[in-house]
Amino acid sequence: MNMNEVHDTVIIGGGPAGLTAGLYAARARMSAVLVEKMGFGGQLLTYEKVDNYPGFPEGVSAFGLGELISAQALKFGLRTRSAEVVGLETEGPTKTVRLADGELHCRTIVIASGASPNKLGAKGESELTGRGVSYCAVCDAPFFREQDVAVIGGGDTAIEEAIYLTKFVKQVYVVHRRDQLRATRVIQEKAAQNPKISLVLSTIVKEIQGGPQGVEGLLLQDRKNENVYQLPVNGAFVFVGIRPNTEFAPVQLEMDSAGFVHTDQEMATSVDGVFAAGDVRVKELRQIVTAVGDGATAAFNAGRYVEAHFH
Ligand code: NAP
Repeated sequence: MNMNEVHDTVIIGGGPAGLTAGLYAARARMSAVLVEKMGFGGQLLTYEKVDNYPGFPEGVSAFGLGELISAQALKFGLRTRSAEVVGLETEGPTKTVRLADGELHCRTIVIASGASPNKLGAKGESELTGRGVSYCAVCDAPFFREQDVAVIGGGDTAIEEAIYLTKFVKQVYVVHRRDQLRATRVIQEKAAQNPKISLVLSTIVKEIQGGPQGVEGLLLQDRKNENVYQLPVNGAFVFVGIRPNTEFAPVQLEMDSAGFVHTDQEMATSVDGVFAAGDVRVKELRQIVTAVGDGATAAFNAGRYVEAHFH
């Protein structure tokens, strides 16, 4: 890749939103480069199966879906670069995407850098991460065969991951801070039918306990009667929401208080020529199907922007 080349668009992130933006841009014959620091697939790499993506009545492997989308984008000529984005210079007609090991120049940028799991912030969490504390059931469930584990959180991710964990472990305790789960009804119903899932509601995690051998238990507090007690478990899977990956974004980019990027319906951000797509955006429904829609819209409008300003 010629380092001085000015690309029509640089797409940041290789999850469903970024890959679809790449597919649409490359197919529209824009010169497009997608930058990804890990593997293609984004959060798909941390899930097992997807059963709400249209076209797959029996569900589809999450990893497999990521591979299919990337193969399709590459087939249309999307170029990719394995690197971490560390900053953006967005003033003027030619923008610069600064990488840990170089830079790319472009006319438009599509930010599709997604989101990462939040930390719980409990005592013991960071010390025991990788030794029983995990943020990815698909990655770590096999380490806990026939053991007891806790899932912390009450959203879709927590409950879906709890269901997945039951294929491996003896019992999953879902510890949630309120007396009602946040997860959608259909997911809650699936969990309610699973005898390996026990709900521990209205309960906060005061500490994740353990030592060099790993996690030994959770110190919990029942919010209704203030009782503090220990729940012995060998693993603690934390799913308490997500935070956007926007550390590299320029100050001019308008975001909400949590750092999610504001866009209009065309996926245009507050910065001229910069678009955003997928989970990184302020939006109501964070799903693969909405991420790919965002990616297509962002690439289409990046193409229009290039046509209007450079041809
Ligand atoms: P989420 O919907 O934001 O849920 C986060 C959960 O963690 C909530 O139950 C929240 O409790 C709890 N929580 C947050 N901070 C906490 C803290 N400090 N201590 C204890 N508990 C805490 O996040 P998510 O489940 O990761 O989902 C993210 C997005 O992806 C959502 O839009 C979700 O619908 C979507 N998603 C969809 C699917 C699917 O459709 N199959 C699967 C996965 C994710 P409160 O409820 O009390 O706030």
